[in-house]
Amino acid sequence: MSRTTDKVKAMGDCAVCGASTLLVVVPEWEVPGSATKPAVVVQAVECLECESCGERYLEPEQVRAFEKKVIEAQRAAKNLLSAAEILQIRESLGINKERLEKILNLNPKSFYRWENSLSIQSDVVDTMLRILRKNPNAVYALAEERHIPLTALKGRPKKAG
Ligand SMILES: [Zn+2]
Repeated sequence: MSRTTDKVKAMGDCAVCGASTLLVVVPEWEVPGSATKPAVVVQAVECLECESCGERYLEPEQVRAFEKKVIEAQRAAKNLLSAAEILQIRESLGINKERLEKILNLNPKSFYRWENSLSIQSDVVDTMLRILRKNPNAVYALAEERHIPLTALKGRPKKAG
C-alpha cells in the first residue's frame, strides 16, 4: 500500500480495527486528482499507520505539513510557480503583500496564502506573475493608473504616518 522509510512500533491500539499494530511511518501518499487538481504522490510527513487495516493518524500539525506538501506537488505537476518563486517575484518588485493585492485587484490574503502554500494560484494569476517578473515596470504603471502610492517600494522614502 505504501512504501515506508521508517518503521517504529508505537504505543496504543488502532481506533478503527482495534489491533495493536500502529507504526510510526513516513508514507508515500497517493492523493487523487479532481477536475482542477492533478493526482500526485507525495513523500508525506511522519505519522502513525496501522499495519493491519492501513488507517493513518495525523496530528493537526502533521495535517498542515501534509497539505502544504500536496499543494507544492500539485503546483509542480501543473508547472506552476512555487511558493518560493512567488515570494521571490513579489520581493523583487519591492511591494508588500497588501499593496500588491490592491494594485493587481486581488483578494486580500492572496499572497499570504500562495507564499505559505495554503492555496494554489490560478493559471491566469500564474501567467500574470511570470509577466510581471519580466516586466516589473508594468506593476508600477498599473499602480499609477489605479492611484495607489508606491511609498512601500524598496529604496523609496516611506511617508510618515
Ligand atoms: Zn487498524
